[in-house]
Amino acid sequence: MIKKIAAAGGDPLRWSRKMLNLYWVLFGIGIVAQFAYMWTEPDPLAYMYGLLAPTALFWLIGLSLMELLLRLFHRGGDYIMISGMAYYSFILMVFHYQTVVVVTTCFLPLLVSMFYLRRSKVIFSYALALASYAAMFLIRGYQLPYLAPKHIFIVASSLTVAAYIIDAFMSRSAELERDLRQTLESKQELMIQNTLMDKLAKTDALTGLYNHMTFHEYLDRLIEQSETGQLSLHIALLDIDNFKKTNDTYGHRAGDIVLKRVAETISQSAGAHDFAARYGGEEFAVIFTEKSLDEVVLLLENMRKRIESIHHSELDNYVATVSIGLHAYGRGMGKEKLFGGADEALYEAKRTGKNKLVVCEQPGGAMKRNA
Ligand code: GH3
Ligand code: MG
Ligand code: MG
Repeated sequence: MIKKIAAAGGDPLRWSRKMLNLYWVLFGIGIVAQFAYMWTEPDPLAYMYGLLAPTALFWLIGLSLMELLLRLFHRGGDYIMISGMAYYSFILMVFHYQTVVVVTTCFLPLLVSMFYLRRSKVIFSYALALASYAAMFLIRGYQLPYLAPKHIFIVASSLTVAAYIIDAFMSRSAELERDLRQTLESKQELMIQNTLMDKLAKTDALTGLYNHMTFHEYLDRLIEQSETGQLSLHIALLDIDNFKKTNDTYGHRAGDIVLKRVAETISQSAGAHDFAARYGGEEFAVIFTEKSLDEVVLLLENMRKRIESIHHSELDNYVATVSIGLHAYGRGMGKEKLFGGADEALYEAKRTGKNKLVVCEQPGGAMKRNA
């Protein structure tokens, strides 16, 4: 299953909060600009009481209301922000109804909608921008002889063109977002497939243990480390006893069940830093790292006893046993000698009665039997 990638655009609430902070800045700029403009007026005081104070008051009411609404309705933050900007521009237009102010401010809600990268927000802001312009016209129309129908037509058509361009921009960004998501999803899918393939290439299909090839790759690396550092290394070869007979008596499929159970027991008994592999047919190999010989012997004895204690009900409660050859790595020994020693010990275990652990003390020489 592919994890759904979150839609681009981030957290809308975070964006609304950012926008509202920006509105407070706009509020300050609006006040400062009007205050500066005030001194160019013939009667600054009249300007202050008639225009600056009411705009400041209406904006302040609007911003406080937005703060409250944003806290109450997190999810509607985008609509609150667009409506808030429509209100801001409406107040500006009502008090400063010169053409230049009207034309520049009526676009503001549309600009805000761009932040949300959604077509529905563009349509909403377009409708609000037209509505606030119409409302301004209803309130101020009688004072504006120059706002002839021609003027209304210019503002309305400019708004429409702007909305159309922003909408096209939205479609383009939605397309990019879709492409990006598809690319990410296929990349994710590829990564999963690669991981699966990697696992398949490294493990044995029947038992799920690492396979022969991976075992050797890993052992080569560990031997290198053991040569340069202090890493202690042991290798054990385990072979199921009389398995040919088991197959002959109960069939190959029953044999597979035994193989799986033995593999499971080996993997469960091995430590977290050990590496268990199916070496071939009914042979397994385990690499032990960072353990003393005594610890490894104890672990392997446990493993052997656990295997011996399983009664395979599908095979008339048949009990499988394993013989084990163990060899510790010594500096400068090399892989061949390490393996040779474990093999000799395994052979010795088989030769002397099976179902036992034999430790190779010296390749080609002394062996120590454990059971
Ligand atoms: P020993 O105690 O000396 O190891 O005797 P053995 O019979 O186990 O050894 P031998 O090498 O004679 O036979 C190994 C058998 O393991 C022969 C083969 O049929 C069986 N075998 C190998 N791979 C598989 C497998 O994947 N599934 C099954 N069911 N049997 C397998
Ligand atoms: Mg064998
Ligand atoms: Mg065998």
